[in-house]
Amino acid sequence: MKIIIVGAGIAGLASYHALRKHLQSIKSDRAVSIKLVESHTSPANSSRTIGGGIGLAPNGLRAIASISPEAASYIRERAFSGGLMTFRDSEGRLLGQMKAGTAERYGEFGQVMVLRATVHEALLLRVREEDVQWEMKVVSVKEAGEQVLVEYGDGSSELADLLIGADGIRSVVKDSLFNGAYPAMYNGLTGVGGFIPISSLPSLLQESFDTHRITMAFGKQGFFGYSPCTSLSSAAPFIQWWTVYEALSNPTREKIDKTELLTRYGDWKSPYDTPEGGLYKHLIELGYAADPESRTTIPRHVTPRLPHWSNCTSLNSDVRGRIVLIGDAAHAMTPDLAQGVSCAVEDAVVHALLLKHYLPIPQGFEKAAQAYEMLRMPRVHFILDQSRWNANAKRDMNWLSQTIRDWGIWIFCKLPEFVHGGIFMYAAEDVVADYIAKHPL
Ligand SMILES: Cc1cc2nc3c(=O)[nH]c(=O)nc-3n(C[C@H](O)[C@H](O)[C@H](O)COP(=O)(O)OP(=O)(O)OC[C@H]3O[C@@H](n4cnc5c(N)ncnc54)[C@H](O)[C@@H]3O)c2cc1C
Repeated sequence: MKIIIVGAGIAGLASYHALRKHLQSIKSDRAVSIKLVESHTSPANSSRTIGGGIGLAPNGLRAIASISPEAASYIRERAFSGGLMTFRDSEGRLLGQMKAGTAERYGEFGQVMVLRATVHEALLLRVREEDVQWEMKVVSVKEAGEQVLVEYGDGSSELADLLIGADGIRSVVKDSLFNGAYPAMYNGLTGVGGFIPISSLPSLLQESFDTHRITMAFGKQGFFGYSPCTSLSSAAPFIQWWTVYEALSNPTREKIDKTELLTRYGDWKSPYDTPEGGLYKHLIELGYAADPESRTTIPRHVTPRLPHWSNCTSLNSDVRGRIVLIGDAAHAMTPDLAQGVSCAVEDAVVHALLLKHYLPIPQGFEKAAQAYEMLRMPRVHFILDQSRWNANAKRDMNWLSQTIRDWGIWIFCKLPEFVHGGIFMYAAEDVVADYIAKHPL
């Protein structure tokens, strides 16, 4: 059985590990081969750092540990963990503080702040070089009898028994499934982010990282966040900083001039202001003094809700469930709940476990894909709604909406941890085991 995974990002690599782990034990007359196809070059041949810093939630770390304990350890050793999330307004006033995803509650799976590149490196551990085809772009996928035809940019093609589309927000696999009917949409928010060495920050702020994890400041016209994103004991720890603001006419990744940011945030106040100037102004100056390559402008795009994440309704019953979308290809969300990576890995684990269960019976691909959609879509749609709510809190506000938002944050921080931590409890293996117990073959 030949499986092709399109995209060696976080979802694709997670799917590779999950399939290798869970399909090994299937009794089949055909050996399972898994191939990753990635349009970019191998990170081993590139000095480019992939992406910025991210929050990796307990559910994501737990899902990673379930398919690669080595990857989970690699991440935890390099990540920043612990402390409080602090919410402020643009006057520097405290709106609230809360523990979310703490190690006290989630043990070894406490939430961490980490470089996206570190998560990628971790998931590349134990991926066999011969299983990945780098620098190969998939241009289309088509149903072909009982198989899936994969067409490449160099004109070649091959057949697969199962095709997993893990090719991100501009997924070619999604476009092939739906004839391009669901393109990614700009959600009206953009922003700039980058990295700053912790050693260059005011000493009072440096000391605060022992207890404070992320600071999120909300103003009338935008948001400013900062947090360490590497272990404080690493050789050269640094923070990530990021801004989010409404810009209806700017859906490009062109570099934004620092004047734009200084105009928006330059006079914001913080308890870490020094006699030399305000903290946010200082962070912008430092951020723009750093290597421009480390700074990115990210207009936020989301995928419209798809009716299916697979071809399980195909007119050709032989091929149903043999094309499946996971991660951002299925549901790119606004990053304001920090769940994109976690959901991508959960998708991969749930789908692999369902394949393990259903493949031994006829129509196994179809049944696995149906169960995958049934288990995953409600959870991800709930998370999409929550992240949209969080994103809207960063849009332009009048006095009334700002007051309501700020009180909303205050109330949210007063809720017990289990309320806002509900989505962190998800354990893919338990969810599938429960489903299988209720749906015997
Ligand atoms: C600004 C920002 C901040 C974020 N912050 C967080 C956060 O704090 N926490 C969190 O959990 N998530 C966060 N996310 C979301 C998270 O980064 C994504 O959800 C996650 O990376 C999705 O992984 P993926 O593998 O599905 O997609 P991708 O990472 O996009 O990977 C897709 C891969 O497919 C390859 N590919 C694409 N097309 C083809 C093709 N035709 N042929 C072959 N290969 C192809 C690409 O090169 C890429 O390697 C953030 C996202 C953004 C934009």
